[in-house]
Amino acid sequence: MSNFQNILDEISGNLNTLKDRGTVASYIPELGKIDASKFGIHLIDIHKNHYTTGDSDELFSIQSISKVLTLSQAFSLIGDRLWERVDVEPSGDPFNHLSLLEMENGIPRNPLINAGAIVVCDVLVSQFKNAKEEFLSYVQEIANDPTISYDEKVAASEQQTGFRNYAAANLLKSYGNLENNVEEVLDFYFHQCSLQLSCKQLASLFYMFINRGQCQRNNTFLNIGQVKRINALMLSCGFYDEAGEFAFKVGLPGKSGVGGGIVAVLPNQFCVATWSPGLNVKGNSKLGMLALEQLTTRTDLSIF
Ligand code: GLU
Repeated sequence: MSNFQNILDEISGNLNTLKDRGTVASYIPELGKIDASKFGIHLIDIHKNHYTTGDSDELFSIQSISKVLTLSQAFSLIGDRLWERVDVEPSGDPFNHLSLLEMENGIPRNPLINAGAIVVCDVLVSQFKNAKEEFLSYVQEIANDPTISYDEKVAASEQQTGFRNYAAANLLKSYGNLENNVEEVLDFYFHQCSLQLSCKQLASLFYMFINRGQCQRNNTFLNIGQVKRINALMLSCGFYDEAGEFAFKVGLPGKSGVGGGIVAVLPNQFCVATWSPGLNVKGNSKLGMLALEQLTTRTDLSIF
């Protein structure tokens, strides 16, 4: 589809005139410093053509989008045993809520809410001597980009204010669903969330979810069945308690993060990443949601 570029330019032109861009997350103090006027989109089609607009080369904190990547690494290492420790149901709750975790005896609803992602971190900490390093190498290898790094300032900022994540990890530990110690698992969790990527790098990483588990160099990181399951989880659980709304308006599997990034995929067709730091009340990028809604409406391309 060669008119992707025109469509992205039009979307960016339309949305850049909006006055209300949402609110930048400030509960992680370091994120609150980001310029709310940033806006970028990068799309890669299945034939590896790139289309881009705005601030798509600027690095930002991908936050919860990283949960899809830790999930991929853990799932490829331990397979279906993962589902004994974390469920696959939407939570309908904000990302950091703990009430369901207690009601359901320490089994998180899904791997894309914080408690579920902390269990996935625990799996990786058990698998590796140094999970932080191994995860970073995994991401660098998928993207074929050794420059990808953690943002230590963001990780430290979250460590100082991540009281709910400490609560979740302690609750998991009390139910016997955390093998390693809370500090070590959370140190890894805060680092994975601090990964800094541009829209271009993010779309490049998620190419494997449209290409049957193979990255752009055609190396295999997931099998087809695993890609199917992760895409299903992104569709049903990728947007906190706004997953239904995202499916309704955009119609693609995807994942957002409180750094203002969103990535979405249409298997066998394209993957797209957007970044605009202002969030709506549910914690998803306001302009990003609108941009993706316009993209699937203008192109008539969605999973539905
Ligand atoms: N690191 C953030 C937290 O744990 C991730 C939240 C998000 O992006 O949804 O609160």
